[in-house]
Amino acid sequence: MKYIDEFQDPGLARRLLDDIRASVTRPWALMEVCGGQTHTIIRHGIDQLLPEGVELIHGPGCPVCVTPLEVIDKALAIAARPEVVFCSFGDMLRVPGTGKDLFRVRSEGGDVRVVYSPLDALRIARENPDRQVVFFGIGFETTAPPNAMTVYQARRLGIRNFSLLVSHVRVPPAIEAIMQSPSCRVQGFLAAGHVCSVMGTAEYPELADRHRVPVVVTGFEPLDILEGVRRAVRQLERGEHTVENAYPRAVRTEGNPAALAMIEDVFEVTDRAWRGIGTIPDSGWRLSERYREYDAEHRFPVSGIATREPEACRSGEVLQGLLKPHQCEAFGTACTPRTPLGATMVSSEGACAAYYLYRRLGTAPARSPQPAPQPPLEASPVV
Ligand code: SF4
Repeated sequence: MKYIDEFQDPGLARRLLDDIRASVTRPWALMEVCGGQTHTIIRHGIDQLLPEGVELIHGPGCPVCVTPLEVIDKALAIAARPEVVFCSFGDMLRVPGTGKDLFRVRSEGGDVRVVYSPLDALRIARENPDRQVVFFGIGFETTAPPNAMTVYQARRLGIRNFSLLVSHVRVPPAIEAIMQSPSCRVQGFLAAGHVCSVMGTAEYPELADRHRVPVVVTGFEPLDILEGVRRAVRQLERGEHTVENAYPRAVRTEGNPAALAMIEDVFEVTDRAWRGIGTIPDSGWRLSERYREYDAEHRFPVSGIATREPEACRSGEVLQGLLKPHQCEAFGTACTPRTPLGATMVSSEGACAAYYLYRRLGTAPARSPQPAPQPPLEASPVV
């Protein structure tokens, strides 16, 4: 399978590992920013194959996981309204809000539907002019263009019963926040290739320079990860801190101009709260003034939300790379993909789900004779 098989070749993986081993003289800590990369790393045991001292820290790159509890609670309130058809990708339905999730809202009579594209939601709006259709627009720079384009289309077609509940986040401000944290141990970044395929790499050189960290744009197959690690380690060993593109088959320096133009037209930068982390300045997008009538928060004001995170869940620390999932006491006991306490166990990109699905851990209690663990609901196109 082109672009998959050749990036999983065991012989090439061994050569890359040999190269990394030969160049390492000291311990280094690298953060992979994206949850998709985390899943590849854990699924293929890449972190265990690397030489001792080269540590991979899992970053806050799962869009489902970082969607703030307050927004989930707003989604629950809007989805429960009788006039609303609430559309979302599948992962979001099981993400716990305060007290319930979207599945529960559906079981209580809410019209909650799983869609595979925001355009599906727009189609539902066209077919149901007497209903209000809301699409849950979350994700990083990768999902922002299709969501922006859907709002653009809604306005162009004069569809007024459609709106977007927006919780879009941006990666570079999160990297900035991670580097400014006093507890930060990260010395280099494997930047998320799909984000850069939209945004290009222009935002990274200043970051790399200011914090003196190498940033290597990296793909999602095992050899992509190993090549990203190889280049980051090589820079660190040489005392360099530049931006390298190790994913040229998808990423150009200038990104995707059409997608960038769509984002620019429909969204504007805003501060955003990240679940488990807090508010990061300029780390998100909201609909710009021109499109405000398509903002679900504007159309359905929700008040009286009192959010409450489960006390046992330490996903905030997991998302900041301060804790590995299996070090959480609830991992594999009170918290599993079937009974998740936090979004990091729900999402198909969550770090806790990756450890649960792919890693046999001594600290996890024996679970036999249960059936094999199920993947977390439906894989979502959210990235
Ligand atoms: S294992 Fe569960 S409870 Fe622990 S941090 Fe992960 S999601 Fe939260």
